[in-house]
Amino acid sequence: MEFPFADFSELKEKRILIVGVGGLGAVSAEILTRCGVGKMVLMDYDTIEEANLNRLIYDTSQVGMKKVDALKAHLRKANPEVTGVGHPFDITDGKGYDLFVEEVGKSDAVLGCVDTFQVRLFMNSQCVKSGKPLIDGGASTDGVNGSVHVVIPGKTPCFRCNRPVLGEAPPVEMQRPEGTRDTTGVCHFTSLPTTMGIISSLQCQEVLKLLLNFGHTAPYLMYHGLEGVLERYDWERDPDCPVCGDITDEE
Ligand SMILES: [Zn+2]
Repeated sequence: MEFPFADFSELKEKRILIVGVGGLGAVSAEILTRCGVGKMVLMDYDTIEEANLNRLIYDTSQVGMKKVDALKAHLRKANPEVTGVGHPFDITDGKGYDLFVEEVGKSDAVLGCVDTFQVRLFMNSQCVKSGKPLIDGGASTDGVNGSVHVVIPGKTPCFRCNRPVLGEAPPVEMQRPEGTRDTTGVCHFTSLPTTMGIISSLQCQEVLKLLLNFGHTAPYLMYHGLEGVLERYDWERDPDCPVCGDITDEE
């Protein structure tokens, strides 16, 4: 089908890394696969628990499977032309860390779909260092609100910008965060599947705009579910940001 703003066939050549394939990441992976992104790389150490089934994509027959394996199988059925790569590792630890650094370098964009602040900061610093766009999505703990933060290194504020509360000390997120792994595999707050669907769709919309070069990237979108309001923030980069402050826009 013709799309007036861009040529979707260009997506065949793109490689997208999705970190975290729970409620947000699995939906984003499905959307981008159906759009025709050539290579989807999935990273998540978790297995599917019954408690995850209120989210989208996974089904009862997959309980106990690694999420990346279950999702890869699902994506292959949705679009056999897409190549899926699954790494069932924690990106902050050992082999997962090495693979993450390598995959960021090879990717056209990184989708952050995790639920801890420390891991977001860690992804942010790696993406800024590698000059790769990070599209980070998150749902609030009340389950009805969420946000999407688009970090284009050197162009838009990074995840660390404008967070002076984190202090002037050497940025901890440059190191691997400790103790981020939740061994239970169960997410401890409820997120409505509707909110997850909205936030992952917003993430995908922004990544499509970036990859296919149409529209205007929104550096930060805040979705207020109770009010039905979507707000866009065009804040400025922090010139003193310890992560991206010394990166200049080449254009
Ligand atoms: Zn920054």
